[in-house]
Amino acid sequence: MESRTAAIVQRSLNALFDDDSFLCDLHNGKREKAFTSLVSILSTPNHVHKSFLRIALEDGSVVRIPAYRVQHNNILGPYKGGIRFHESVNEDEVVNLSSLMTLKNALHEVPFGGGKGGVVINPRNYTAKDLHAICVKYVQYFTKVIGPNEDIPAPDVGTGEREMDWMMGEFKSIHPGRDYLGSFTGKSVENGGSLGRRTSTGKGVYFTFRYLLHDFVKEQKSWLEDRKSADAHTVLETYDQSLTLAFQGFGNVGSAAALNAYQCSHINNKIVAVSDRNVTLYQQDGLDIPALVKYTDKNNGDLPRNAEELHAAQVQAEILEREDILYLNIDALFLVALENQIHSDNMEKIKAKIVVEGANAPITNEADEYLTNAGTLIIPDILANAGGVIVSYFEWIQGKETQFFTEEEVFRRLYEKMKKTFDNVFPTFFSNAYTLRKTCYIHSVLKLSTILYRQGKLY
Ligand code: GLU
Repeated sequence: MESRTAAIVQRSLNALFDDDSFLCDLHNGKREKAFTSLVSILSTPNHVHKSFLRIALEDGSVVRIPAYRVQHNNILGPYKGGIRFHESVNEDEVVNLSSLMTLKNALHEVPFGGGKGGVVINPRNYTAKDLHAICVKYVQYFTKVIGPNEDIPAPDVGTGEREMDWMMGEFKSIHPGRDYLGSFTGKSVENGGSLGRRTSTGKGVYFTFRYLLHDFVKEQKSWLEDRKSADAHTVLETYDQSLTLAFQGFGNVGSAAALNAYQCSHINNKIVAVSDRNVTLYQQDGLDIPALVKYTDKNNGDLPRNAEELHAAQVQAEILEREDILYLNIDALFLVALENQIHSDNMEKIKAKIVVEGANAPITNEADEYLTNAGTLIIPDILANAGGVIVSYFEWIQGKETQFFTEEEVFRRLYEKMKKTFDNVFPTFFSNAYTLRKTCYIHSVLKLSTILYRQGKLY
């Protein structure tokens, strides 16, 4: 595990160590030993699989493409996590992301462990035929370690339904007669996917924010007023005003989250900015998000980049540099792009009062500490972006039973599951001195440790 997650796991375990009621049956130095064992178990992945996929490209050349499948932990169930296609993929990153999956699933009581895959390519540089060959090869190379009860991949950055459909197709060919619907999640609905999976991560990201600011704080306002932490103040001061929001990232997750914010009738939101890999669009009076979603759907996922394209999209906005979105004077900034977006070089320029991690690990450790000390409320990735894996779990159940839920049923179950987590986490957060991130980690680590202990794996 990269030092960032390992360090937080270590600190979370230290906090648990101070809680005498935890593992209280262990005496005479055994409790200390159990904690040392926990750190080593949770800080290292079970397996790191690496291959160089040999691909005959459509242009006639043969290339070797590095690919990974990391299986961090299966304490709670089969390994689970996406496969990322991105040129910056590397082993450390995949290991770190796989450990976040373990913690995310534990936090939301999803009966899966943590895994992650990656292929070092920029998918935009390959033809559909090449990408199909890469997906097929990925399954062939890793076929011994994946499967519906072993390790269940899903989409991540750079992959989607099309890739999962191809991969499941190859899994089915390699294993005739075996259950295959549960081997991959995030498939198209026609191919055994779940209704609602496509927008589930984005919806979950916005729901986390909305639930904290509206449902939770409104219900608990008087109770919260006694707890005067900087974080509580941010939330209390903000929730019933009109809020300005910005979304860094307008892909599958960002656009769904922004659309939900736009349509939300509980909070008075105004989405003043969105960005993608090319530009930031800014509009003080609020952007027309449905028009932008329509435009990106038709234009390879890209937001309008100039006056002409804005005109074609029928959207009024100012065009700013891509990075500018991070430094706007707004209430809430949603980071829904990639990791390490806020770091030591730009952290001092962040003005948003609340930062929501829709992507995995978008804030470095140093920046996290800096922003927290500056009074920014950070809603962490493992809490906010679990909608995708939760609906993947529903897809897996539906595939096993070959009985499919309506979209309404999927979202009802999604919100119910997330609410259960929030109602566990938010009261603890407001009644102790820990950040929301650390509170979530403590919940996850507590769950994993308890299971390990109950299964006789800690003495
Ligand atoms: N890639 C998504 C995540 O990071 C979804 C994983 C899944 O559905 O298994 O949570």
